Amino acid sequence: MSSDCLFCKIVSGEIPAKVRYQDELVMVIEDIDPQAPEHMLIIPKKHIRTTLDLTTADNSLVGHVFQIAGKMAHDYGFSEDGFRVVNNCNQAAGQTVWHLHFHLLGGRELTWPPG
Ligand code: 5GP
Ligand code: ZN
Repeated sequence: MSSDCLFCKIVSGEIPAKVRYQDELVMVIEDIDPQAPEHMLIIPKKHIRTTLDLTTADNSLVGHVFQIAGKMAHDYGFSEDGFRVVNNCNQAAGQTVWHLHFHLLGGRELTWPPG
């Protein structure tokens, strides 16, 4: 828990969010500014600043994130059409919240390459 972190405050309930799923390791919320008909954020409950701060102790956590991404895409009916899991690391990639999170995008055709 980092006291000045937006996603830590969402995980603790201090700041409200539309929560679609949670377990002991992750919380899945709706993005406040969706970039696709389905745009969720998979947020590890543990405060990890960026991808570069992951350690081998987090390997199972990251695996779990991808398990949950597939489960959410399936449960919300867009797994068969296709979906994308995105992590933005640091400024040039567009990271704006300094608590590790994974975007789950679906519900439309997703172009490649991304911007
Ligand atoms: P990043 O740019 O760091 O990869 O992604 C941060 C994401 O968090 C953005 O897609 C942004 O719309 C979302 N976001 C920022 N503030 C809030 C908030 O207060 N609530 C929710 N649900 N999403 C937020
Ligand atoms: Zn945090």
